[in-house]
Amino acid sequence: MRGLLLKSKMSTAKISYTDLVNPIVLKQPVYEPGKPIELVAREFGLDPDETIKLASNENPLGVSPQALEAVRGFLNRSYLYPDGGCYLLRQKLSQKMGLEPEQLVFGNGSNEVMELIGHAFFQPGDEVVMGEQAFIVYKLVTLLFQATPIEVPLVDFTHDLKAMREAITGRTKAVCLPCPNNPTGTLNPADEVLEFVRSLPEHVIFVLDEAYAEYLEDPVDLRSLIAEGRKIICTRTFSKIYGLAGFRIGYGYCSAECATLLNRVREPFNVNAIAQVAAVAALDDEDFVEASRRCNKAGLTQIIDFCKGRQISYVPSCGNFILVQVGDGARVFQSLQEVGVIVRPMAPYGFPDYLRISIGTGSQNLRMIEALQNALGFS
Ligand SMILES: *Cc1c(COP(=O)(O)O)cnc(C)c1O
Repeated sequence: MRGLLLKSKMSTAKISYTDLVNPIVLKQPVYEPGKPIELVAREFGLDPDETIKLASNENPLGVSPQALEAVRGFLNRSYLYPDGGCYLLRQKLSQKMGLEPEQLVFGNGSNEVMELIGHAFFQPGDEVVMGEQAFIVYKLVTLLFQATPIEVPLVDFTHDLKAMREAITGRTKAVCLPCPNNPTGTLNPADEVLEFVRSLPEHVIFVLDEAYAEYLEDPVDLRSLIAEGRKIICTRTFSKIYGLAGFRIGYGYCSAECATLLNRVREPFNVNAIAQVAAVAALDDEDFVEASRRCNKAGLTQIIDFCKGRQISYVPSCGNFILVQVGDGARVFQSLQEVGVIVRPMAPYGFPDYLRISIGTGSQNLRMIEALQNALGFS
């Protein structure tokens, strides 16, 4: 309604905003997020409290309880600007990670850290090597800064490090690798990642996206290669295992020199005060992290057992989500929504016969499994 009104008001103008826009804006692909619970509930006439979202890899156990408590006690101080340098969080996290405080960069989600990398390093003519079905944000950031994405097809849903190495040229500015990848959940073995990083020429920045590292038993560790002076930026997030997706906070770690450059291009107060308080408390909430890890492991097993029992193909996952082959993904997505189960259709990633399903609690997984059985015509 409002959109129509604005359009008709503007119709007398001879020059539109679209005429004025930076042309790269029109070429920018549109990110399709998981659908919010309220929206789906309204669309299908459902009770929002009965609608479950397994669409954005959020933590089904909710917010870290320690973070929640800290935030509640902090709200009345929200009239103050945040600490632009994230001092407390920086101290705490650097100790936990065994890094110098100056090696950290904080962002409004790790997606913002990726954008800071673009701001600081990507220029027209630069190439950025990435998997063809990698997390889409690398491509969005690359295009936004008028660099060229070089997309290397996955093999068996997994990043092909050999082909990615061969795609590197004198124009390559960066290469992005998610470990594990979203949406496929696949993980390149740590020794192969290390070998790949060591093989990179000096002018190439290796970006390791570790959004799900806390779910892994033995994540690849690039800290000593960073200390050696290799060009590496690792990104992590509080959105997943810490349950803080709505707060928007993530971080990168790299050399102090690189962090200084990234900090130059960020907005002074890019990470809000409440998110900082939540993240500091969440780092202490080891019980919650452990419970989240256990819940995820059990849930993955539950869903895989179901798939095996029904001979449904899936892609073995190291994350808190799984790709399941359902035939007509758009149709099954729709029929799950009708019964209040939101998952993610995968056509935008080139997997139209798959759904990406975030691992829920045991009872959420059961509801999803029942809905899926019905949609697929199992009795
Ligand atoms: C969820 C996710 C992120 C996290 O993004 P935030 O901006 O920190 O919420 C980053 N990378 C991948 C691959 C993800 O799946």
